[in-house]
Amino acid sequence: MPDSPNSTPMSQTDGLLARHRAVMPNWAGLYYDEPIEIVSGKGNRVVDASGKSYLDFFAGILTNMIGYDIPEVREAVERQLATGVVHTSTVYLLRGQIELAEKIARLSGIPDAKVFFTNSGTEANETALLLATYARGSDQVLAMRQSYHGRSFGAISVTSNRSWKNNSLSPLNVHFLHGTDQHLAQFRGMSDADYIAACVDDLRHVLATAVTKDVAALIAEPIQGVGGFTMAPDGLFAAYKEVLDEEGILFVSDEVQTGWGRTGSAFFGIHNHGVTPDMMTFAKGLGNGFAVGGVVARGDLMDGPHAAGVATFGGNPISMAAAGATLDYVLDHDLQANAARTGEIIIGGLREAATRLPVVGDVRGKGLMFAVELVDPATGAPAPALAVRFMEETKKLGLLIGKGGLYGNALRMAPPLTLTEDEAREGLGILVTALETINDEAR
Ligand code: PLP
Repeated sequence: MPDSPNSTPMSQTDGLLARHRAVMPNWAGLYYDEPIEIVSGKGNRVVDASGKSYLDFFAGILTNMIGYDIPEVREAVERQLATGVVHTSTVYLLRGQIELAEKIARLSGIPDAKVFFTNSGTEANETALLLATYARGSDQVLAMRQSYHGRSFGAISVTSNRSWKNNSLSPLNVHFLHGTDQHLAQFRGMSDADYIAACVDDLRHVLATAVTKDVAALIAEPIQGVGGFTMAPDGLFAAYKEVLDEEGILFVSDEVQTGWGRTGSAFFGIHNHGVTPDMMTFAKGLGNGFAVGGVVARGDLMDGPHAAGVATFGGNPISMAAAGATLDYVLDHDLQANAARTGEIIIGGLREAATRLPVVGDVRGKGLMFAVELVDPATGAPAPALAVRFMEETKKLGLLIGKGGLYGNALRMAPPLTLTEDEAREGLGILVTALETINDEAR
């Protein structure tokens, strides 16, 4: 995660933080003045080394999509372990891999879809970019401002935030588009329709002026994750897709954070926009903590002459067992509907609190993916220091959340899709209490 590490020193009884600092890079960010070591988890809660229990409103980092120690997932992994077949790579038939690919292909809505499994979201995006640039014979790619797509050369190239780009040696020729920046002064006061029209004009202008050859693809997150859960207005991606289709440009939807029903209103985030992309990438939650990523793409793109080769550990039997059980659990328990129901309770409650707390600059989200932006109550300017304070306050009250956004002032929340209505109200109560405290302090 590219969130900044918290620099305040602390003492831990066994000196784990000092040991971390000695052997881990300083950009491997830790949350909190006193970072915690999580030692166990059950349901939607985790326990730290001191025995303190937390309701996890960030699902690990959107990894524990259906919570912790889920018997169905544990048993599926144990069954696979018991066969002794832990790894056979992709050179032999793997039943679990094929069954999972069949389900994902069907759920994707992409015609004649095929699936390639990787170990992470970065690798998934790298694969999608390879496929798209091969298919179109071009290194030109479009991406969205404020995006985050991972930390390899290709994925960083299409990432748009100075502090998350650790290098400038981009292997791709990338142009960044408007679409998730309606808050900028130049767009202020515009209706959604006018903003979309302005963005489409800009896209056409980019295509007419800024490129030297045909463009291979647009890669976009339906809701920007690390960017602070920033969203394009409804209709923007459909309008972009029309232009892309006219120009033969491929559309890659990065569903690493938005997939599997998290947004409540659709199974994949881009389906909220009524758009069927040419490819989708996924990772994070599918393995419920086990490393699984992948690309689902139109068969003709996947079967191109320059296939991306083997991912040695991609689609390994253990990850496939975990992912198969997790996806079945999501479908069997209709967790998409649960995300809609519980998300509405929390987002509604936060919006109500925002009306009386000037420290809240914005509440946004869909389903169980929502964010609060903290601002200076006097000036309305982004207040990243208040976000750091808020994290400490919610931790104290027993709630884990995430942080991020272009200005570091967005509090990001994405609880497990198994969140109960009681837990939704409990978490909301803590969030509102902490907002009231921060609001008082900031006045
Ligand atoms: N794409 C999105 C939207 C992400 O949020 C992330 C990680 O936060 C990635 C890609 C990279 O995934 P990974 O960290 O598994 O490589």
